[in-house]
Amino acid sequence: MRRPVPLLIVAALVLAATSTTHATALEIHQEEVRIGTSVSGRPILAVHRWADGAGRSAVVVGSMHGDERAGLRVVRRLRAAVLPVGVDLWLIATMNPDGTSADRRTNARGVDLNRNFPQNWVEAGAATAKWSGPSAASEPETRAMTAFLRDVRPWTTVVLHQPLYGVDSYRAKSMALVRRLSWETGLPVRRFDCGGGCHGTLTDWHNSRLDGRAVTIELGRSASDSRVHLVSRAVLRVATPS
Ligand SMILES: [Zn+2]
Repeated sequence: MRRPVPLLIVAALVLAATSTTHATALEIHQEEVRIGTSVSGRPILAVHRWADGAGRSAVVVGSMHGDERAGLRVVRRLRAAVLPVGVDLWLIATMNPDGTSADRRTNARGVDLNRNFPQNWVEAGAATAKWSGPSAASEPETRAMTAFLRDVRPWTTVVLHQPLYGVDSYRAKSMALVRRLSWETGLPVRRFDCGGGCHGTLTDWHNSRLDGRAVTIELGRSASDSRVHLVSRAVLRVATPS
């Protein structure tokens, strides 16, 4: 689908990008969509980019924990990338703009958004940076993401984190996708189980409730420019219909 009905389009434009492999110009469409509002009133924005003939969509979440900033660089690259034919890409630089603004893991109410999704939610971690919140999907950022993903129904979603290092195989929906991303990025396949079992994570919610596959990539404590390049290129490759 091109445009989720309840979302507010804040900007739209069409770019003509010349392709070296095609005689005619490939039209790249782009729009910026406000998918929700944070606790402190900041917009949660998604940039939608797609080329003519686009197929199933892919979503990239650059940052969910505001003190993990390497994924912002991946999204910045993808915002400028030439799209292969058939790619339909939704780029969310941060789903936690208050946390990103404050360089803080949690949202403005001190909730770890990656413990707040309504899948295997438990109340845990009060007074720590991993507080799951007072109830499942209590936070507006969580609800914005679930509504957005239900509307867009991406086939592939990549969620970027730090400081661990690898492509997450824990409760993976598609090991083929995990292995492909590992191969493309040079990051190892690793099992990130949140120290004994994950509760209320975005990827678990996505993989349980939607048809598409979501994968977490941990970019390490710091990410080199070449790693950022490899990860953004890997996203384009797995988002390209075969
Ligand atoms: Zn994280």
